[in-house]
Amino acid sequence: MTEVAVAGGLPAGPAESEWAAAVAAVRDLPADARVLLICHVNPDGDALGSMLGFGLGLRQLGVRDLQATFPGPPEVPEPFRWMPGVELLVPQDDTYPDPDLVICFDAASESRLGDLVGRLDTAGTSLVLDHHASNTGFGRINLVDPHAAATSVVALELLDRLGATLDAEVATGLYVALTTDTGSFRFEATTPAVHRMAARLLATGIRPGDISRRVFDTRPFGAVRLFGEVLGRATLEPAAAAGHGLVWTYATREDLVRHDQPAYVLEALIDSVRCTEEADVSCVIKQAGEAEWAVSLRSKGAVDVSAVAVALGGGGHRFAAGFTGRGALDELVGRIRAELATATLVAP
Ligand code: AMP
Ligand code: MN
Ligand code: MN
Repeated sequence: MTEVAVAGGLPAGPAESEWAAAVAAVRDLPADARVLLICHVNPDGDALGSMLGFGLGLRQLGVRDLQATFPGPPEVPEPFRWMPGVELLVPQDDTYPDPDLVICFDAASESRLGDLVGRLDTAGTSLVLDHHASNTGFGRINLVDPHAAATSVVALELLDRLGATLDAEVATGLYVALTTDTGSFRFEATTPAVHRMAARLLATGIRPGDISRRVFDTRPFGAVRLFGEVLGRATLEPAAAAGHGLVWTYATREDLVRHDQPAYVLEALIDSVRCTEEADVSCVIKQAGEAEWAVSLRSKGAVDVSAVAVALGGGGHRFAAGFTGRGALDELVGRIRAELATATLVAP
C-alpha cells in the first residue's frame, strides 16, 4: 500500500484501487471457495468482533466454506463466547491448509498471526483489514486505515461495498469491536463518524446494555479479589517518563492459580491502573510463560507508547500499545523505564 502523509501525521486510509481490489477478491470467489478468517493472537473485542461480524456478512453473501480462527489455544475468552458467529471458529490446526482467500483482522504485522502465518503463502490470495498506523502491509491486498477507531470500521465499509445487509448478528460483532477500541466511546478516536456507525449498528435492534454488561462489566468474584491484590502492589514512579509519571503493576501465573482464574481476566486490569492521576503512562505486566511477559502500555496523551512498544519488540497505537518481554521482572521494568526516559513526546 502506498502511504501518503496527511494532516495529523497519520498515513492516509486505503486508496480507491485497494478497495476495488478487495471487493473483487471477495466477489470473484468461485461458489466452492474456502475462505479463512484470522485475527490476532490473544484476541480482543476488536479482533474477534470484526472477524465474526464480517464472517457472518460473508456467509450472508453466499460464502459457504468459511472458517474463522486465531493463533494459540482455541479457547475464546468468556466475555466473547456468546457472540453470534462463534460457530465459525475452528482450532488453528483444523483450518484449511490452502484456502482460496485469507482475511486477517486487527493484526499490525505477520508476527501477530503466530503459527498461522504460513497460510498467507499457501492461500490463493490474502486481504488485510486493520487500523494500526504501524501496519506492515503484509497482505496481497491491504485495507489499512489508521484513522479508523477500530478494525470493524474498515470491515463495515467493505461489507457495505460488497452489498451485504447489516443485520443484528453482523452488527453485534462490529459493535463489540467498536466499543472495545473506543473504550466505550470515551477515547479520542470517538469521532462523529464513530457515533454515526454506532447509530447504524444500534438501529438493527442490538441491545447495548446487555452487550456492555457481558463484555466489560462481568467477571468472576475470584477475579475481583485477584484485582485487589494486583492493584495493591501497583507502583507509582512520578519522575519516570521524563517527569510525566509511570504507574505499573504485574500479575504472575501463580496469582492466577491462587485465585483460580483464567489469564484473560487480566486484560481488564489496565483500565483500573490507568486511572492514576499522577501518571501519564500506565503499564500492566502479565506473566505468560516461565520468563515471558505480556506487557500492556497506555498513555493519557503526553507519551507515544507505541514507539516504546516498538523499541521493545511490539507495537500498537500511540496511546495503547504492547509487547512481549522476556527475562526477569525487575530487568523488564528497567528496560521499560529506560525506553520511557527517552520516549517520544506527543505534540500538544
Ligand atoms: P493490549 O495492551 O494487549 O490491549 O494491546 C494494546 C495494543 O497494543 C493493541 O493495539 C495491540 O494490537 C498492541 N499490542 C499488544 N501486544 C502486542 C505485541 N506483542 N506485539 C505487537 N502489538 C501488540
Ligand atoms: Mn486488537
Ligand atoms: Mn483494533
